[in-house]
Amino acid sequence: MIYFDHNATTPILDEIQEVMQEAMSRFWGNPSSAHRMGKEAHWKLENCRERLASLLRVKSKEVYFTSGGTEADNLAILGSLQTNSGNIVVSAFEHPAIFAAARHAEKQGVELRIVPIKENGQISLEKLEDLVDDKTQIVSIMFANNEIGTVQPYNEIGKIVKRYNNILHSDAVQAFGKVPLNIQENLIDSVSVSSHKIYGPKGCGAIYIDENCTINPRTFGGGQEKNVRTGTQNLPAIMGFVRAAEIAFHNMEKEKEKLCFLTNYMFDKISTKNKNIIRNGDSIKRIPGTLNISIPGVVSGNIVETLNEMDIFISGGSACDSASAKPSQTLLALGRNREEAIAGVRVSLGRFSTQEEVDLFVEKITHVIAVERDS
Ligand code: PLP
Repeated sequence: MIYFDHNATTPILDEIQEVMQEAMSRFWGNPSSAHRMGKEAHWKLENCRERLASLLRVKSKEVYFTSGGTEADNLAILGSLQTNSGNIVVSAFEHPAIFAAARHAEKQGVELRIVPIKENGQISLEKLEDLVDDKTQIVSIMFANNEIGTVQPYNEIGKIVKRYNNILHSDAVQAFGKVPLNIQENLIDSVSVSSHKIYGPKGCGAIYIDENCTINPRTFGGGQEKNVRTGTQNLPAIMGFVRAAEIAFHNMEKEKEKLCFLTNYMFDKISTKNKNIIRNGDSIKRIPGTLNISIPGVVSGNIVETLNEMDIFISGGSACDSASAKPSQTLLALGRNREEAIAGVRVSLGRFSTQEEVDLFVEKITHVIAVERDS
């Protein structure tokens, strides 16, 4: 088996399973209960909050645990709206967790403005500047794109958004644990992160919200997470998530080096063995591990399916629509034509990927491409 779909999800590390197992058997008390069982769970929870805050270099009171990236993104977009007028500015290739929330706001009367993407996979800063104004309620630009991996020019984005003192949200689900976010320096007000992209459990994540920024709740109940995200916290998942984040931060530099080498090596080999392979997104400004290529003359879904039969797992576009023969919206957004956008595959390597796996993968995909292009 070769698993090259780490942007969709990652396996849960053995160490994380142990942390969670211990949490389930020892700290199953409700963190809101007044007795010792509750207090122990509460202390563990607050310890996790402090450790995550320290990785993000923010205050622990600015960190709220959620059920994952989707909930954090929805909370940021919909919770920041103060009126049903004005506008929201998002990039053309946001994840559906942002885009669908923004479309929902549009239905309530808020104008949706979309920032186009340049060919290298970064947003157009000039267009961002044109679109942001004093009626903008929130700007949301993902830190790194899930399909092509390109990291956005955040040092510039923050300065533009802050000219009008607007709220800046960053979906950092794919970037967290892989590249530094520099939240304060980049003038970001809220950030979404998710556990299952960094070898932690699914259904767990967090949102950072600057203490000076107001995000209204989307759910109502017992008042946990200071009412921003109410509901009993999933402590075993949170403990696993935070430990996974610490391990990811500890390995960040080492992994960056290895994964950048492996993806470049893989691209060079694929494009030497196959004609007309197009690399999508910036080859340098990207999260390590992600390689997106268009293979004109093939349909990405067929490549994914044939490799699947060989026990090799990659993705056509994002995990959400990988089985379809629809062109990738992300690739269209950065100017690829329809044929190239239908022919885009995402190969995302992870911590345990090896050069031997890459060699075998290149051999197999080369065979599959030849068969597809001949048929
Ligand atoms: N944002 C991005 C960029 C993602 O890649 C994903 C997951 O694929 C999400 C948000 C949603 O996160 P979660 O799966 O934790 O809800």
